[in-house]
Formats: sequence, C-alpha cells, structure tokens
Amino acid sequence: MESYKIAVASGKGGTGKTSVSVSLCHYLRECTDKDITLADCDVEEPNDKIFFSSAALQNSCSIVRSVASINNNRCTYCRQCVEYCEFNAIVVIPSAQYAEINSSLCHSCGACIVACKYDAVYEEPEIIGEVNNYSISDNILLAEGVLKIGSTMQTAVIRDLKSRVCNNKGIVVLDSPPGTSCPFVETVSDADYVVLATEPTPFGLHDLKLAVEVLKQLNVDFGVIVNKSGIGTNDVYDYLNRENVELIGEIPFIKEYAGNYAKGELTSNIPEIIDSSYRDITDRLIQHLYIEKESLSR
Ligand code: SF4
Ligand code: SF4
Repeated sequence: MESYKIAVASGKGGTGKTSVSVSLCHYLRECTDKDITLADCDVEEPNDKIFFSSAALQNSCSIVRSVASINNNRCTYCRQCVEYCEFNAIVVIPSAQYAEINSSLCHSCGACIVACKYDAVYEEPEIIGEVNNYSISDNILLAEGVLKIGSTMQTAVIRDLKSRVCNNKGIVVLDSPPGTSCPFVETVSDADYVVLATEPTPFGLHDLKLAVEVLKQLNVDFGVIVNKSGIGTNDVYDYLNRENVELIGEIPFIKEYAGNYAKGELTSNIPEIIDSSYRDITDRLIQHLYIEKESLSR
C-alpha cells in the first residue's frame, strides 16, 4: 500500500478542523518525504484553498450522476416502480394519469428500471458538482469537491472526489464536513486514521461524544486534538481519559495565531508554541503511519 489516508473531522463546526487539516499538510510535508494530497470534502462550503495563496488551478471536472425519469408516453401507471423505490422518489397517480420522479430524492439505484415492464423508465445525466485540482507546491496537491447549488448529493460528490485522490501516492489528508451525518461517514469510513478536532468547551464535548460513538461503530482508528486549549474546562480531558481515547495533542489558544487564521495565513509567522505543538502532533501521526502501515516506510 503506497498511500495513507488521514481524515480530519469534528462533531461540530468552528473547532478548527480546517486549520488543523491545512497545518497538518504543511507539517507532514516538512517532516516526511511523502507527497501530500489535501482533499477538501466539505463540499457544501469548501474553503481550504483560501489558506494557500500559491494555489494554482490545474483542472476542473464535472461530477455527473444518472437520475431516473419516466416517459409518460409509455407509462401505464401500474405503480410497480413505486413499490420498488426505497427512497419514496416516485409519485404515480393512476386516476390522474400522473407519473413523476423527484430527482432530489432519487439515489440512482436503478430499481425502477428493473421494475418497469413497459420500458417507461430511463436515465438522464445530471451534474451534481465538480472537482477542482490545485497545485500548491512541488509536493502538495489540493483537490476540492464542490456541490452544485441546490443539489442534495453531498455523499455522491465526496465519493467521487475520494475515488480520484485516495490512491495518490504518499499521504492523503481528508478534510471532512462537520457533524456526524452521512457526509462525515462517507469521508471517514475508510480512513487509516481519523483526527477529531475539538475544543475544551461544553459544546465541543457534546459533539465530540457523538463523533466518537460513530467512529467506534465504524471501527476506525482515531485520536483527538484539543484545539484552543487553555480556554474552557477540563471536561474534555476527563472524557478522553474515561473512554481511553488517544489525545494526539493540544493547540493552545494564542490571539496572534487566531489573527493569522483570520488573515488566511496559517503556514507562515507561526508562533513558536503552536509550531512546537504541531511538530509533536505530526510526530505522533507519523508513528501511526510508520508503525501501522510499514509498507509506507519502504
Ligand atoms: S412501472 Fe413503468 S409503467 Fe408502471 S408506473 Fe412505473 S414507469 Fe409507469
Ligand atoms: S433509481 Fe432508485 S431511487 Fe431513483 S427513482 Fe428509481 S428506484 Fe427510486
């Protein structure tokens, strides 16, 4: 195996997941000889590229899926397709001679095509988003998934983005969408290691617990970075101890660094204490990388 996937996620937004993802790319590149790919899977509002002033767009490609549709000239309104659709995407009213598929509910499973004996269901292509590839430096690539406005197909866009980058040589950092719903699961489920970014506040702890429960069910190896340490309470640390969850490291809250973030400057003028924290965190991740995936060290 030549690639190693680290997903960076958080149970809630605002915990610094993006800054952790971007910073880890920077330090993993500095501390290893591996190529780094950063995949921005937060497809509803991808913003990783803001932190790379050198980002140069290499290419873009549309993400297309097939969506089912009904040809009313052939439809007999028998409702067989309605019985087959597990997503309640089809409405057929025989008395009104009405048959339609709601494309935003259709999951492109193809069951209605199999169900229809009258060849009345066909598939149409629908653009649901795009993938943009940026070159950041010699050894860092950024791939960004962008959901088309109005589309509800977040997981399909993330799946497509991952299929394009997850076999890239070296280390692939997946910046997950916030929360713990399907887009989060789609991003983290096959990661080699998941970094959960949280903050030491009651809100951070509440959502961290949800994310930990999901990751345990997915049986994925994970650890936690406490961002903005020094504010809030010790409850997060007590929870990690109790649950035997690995604390990968802490990023202290430094006003100067928060100012850098606001200016989109995460990888320059890094305060010494933040630099030292990230180097420790990177060392721990590299230990996981080399110990658990020995093939990468070859
Ligand atoms: S199964 Fe075919 S013919 Fe029957 S309602 Fe559906 S589309 Fe129409
Ligand atoms: S393709 Fe699947 S999800 Fe879409 S309408 Fe047909 S049965 Fe329903």
